[in-house]
Formats: sequence, C-alpha cells, structure tokens
Amino acid sequence: SDHQLEYPLSPDDMDWQKLYPAFYDKATNKMSKEVTIADIGCGFGGLLIDLSPEFSDNLILGMEIRVQVTNYVEDRIIALRTNNADTNDYQNISVLRGNSMKFLPNFFHKAQLEKMFFCFPDPHFKQRKHKARIITNTLLSEYAYVLKEGGIVYTITDVLDLHQWMAKHLEEHPLFERLSPEWESSDKCVQIMRNATEEGKKVERNKGDKYVACFVRLPNPIII
Ligand code: SAM
Repeated sequence: SDHQLEYPLSPDDMDWQKLYPAFYDKATNKMSKEVTIADIGCGFGGLLIDLSPEFSDNLILGMEIRVQVTNYVEDRIIALRTNNADTNDYQNISVLRGNSMKFLPNFFHKAQLEKMFFCFPDPHFKQRKHKARIITNTLLSEYAYVLKEGGIVYTITDVLDLHQWMAKHLEEHPLFERLSPEWESSDKCVQIMRNATEEGKKVERNKGDKYVACFVRLPNPIII
C-alpha cells in the first residue's frame, strides 16, 4: 500500500541525480534540467522509450505504482543506456515508483510540466469504483497545478465509457480546453502514443478502437 511508498517532502528534496545521472552538473552540484514530461501509469515503459529520441532535450519520467513493473522498466532503461553508451542515448528517461493520484506536487513544482500522458489507464468499470479513476475533478486541479500554461494533457483508451468520462471531466474543468482533431493529427506525440505503449500494441493486435482526447492547460483566470 501507499504506506510503503516514499515521497519527497518537496520537489527540491527529490534526488533527481539518481534518476538522470547524465544531467547532473558536478561543478554546480545541480541538475542541468528538470522533468518536463510525465507518463502517468507508464506500465512497461514503451512510451518513454519512443519519446526519448524525439525529446532529447527534455527529461521524461514514467510513474508506476506496481513494484515489479517499475523494476522491469528500470532494468530496461539501464540496458538501453548501457547498449548506447557511445551515443549517450536514453539518459533522458527514467521511472519512479509512486501513486500518481497522491502527492504529485511533492515531485513537481507549480507549472513545471509541459506534457502529461494518460495512456490506457485502468478503466475501473463498476460505478462504485469510478472514484478510483485517474481523472477526476480533484485530480485535474492537481494536474493543472503541475502543468504550465500551454502544457498538454494527452489521453488515450480503448474503453469508450472511460474516454467519455475523461473527456467530460477535462471539458468541464475551467483550466483545460480540448484540442481539435486537426491538432491531434498534426501532433507527433499523438502518433507516438497511439503505437508505443504495450497496452496500445495489445489493442492493435486485437483490432480494438483507440480513443484519443488532448487538452491544453489554459492560463489562470485573472481575479479582480
Ligand atoms: N500506460 C501503459 C500502457 O499504455 O501500456 C500501462 C497501461 S495499464 C492498463 C495501467 C497502468 O497504470 C498499470 O501499470 C498500473 O499499475 C498503473 N497505475 C494504476 N494506478 C496508478 C497510480 N495511481 N499511480 C501510478 N500508476 C498507476
């Protein structure tokens, strides 16, 4: 349970050097970059791996609640780094075990993130389980807090009911606005997200549907 999970008291207490050693500047004792892309419930890490070369200037973090899955992704990234040591590839991706439904502001500063991905989240089909869904009004306010203005929330699922649920909650939230199908078809991350994740590949094999909805983080309203 969460009791065994460790959380930093604040983003500055987090030991990012451990996750991204190549981005630690020994001269200043500081990280040269901070995480700007988060994959929430990253599963086996396929999205991280495909995003890595596309966003080589960004630090990308997968968050995953299952211990074994997190360990698997960690090993996968270490192997990729080792096999690409000459080019220094895959240094910009990492994974963290954690419950993304809790304490996100302990990991990220306000307006730190540029992109958040929610790929094939657990559907929690039963009505009484809906509150366990990863997109709810309360959590959206937290996601809006860690996202910068103009930042993007990406969602994809094969479950129509969940797609409608996520889209409805995001549309109703004052800090998010839905992006058009034209925007979606021109964005490279949508393309990657459709094909990169293990769950997405499974849906592809089973010839299932994939429903995408993307939202931009709006500016905070000016309170007079
Ligand atoms: N995004 C991956 C993909 O598309 O292949 C994995 C999809 S899988 C159906 C959902 C993942 O979210 C699981 O690996 C699960 O352990 C993880 N998860 C569920 N709730 C979570 C939470 N509160 N925080 C972090 N990860 C969570």
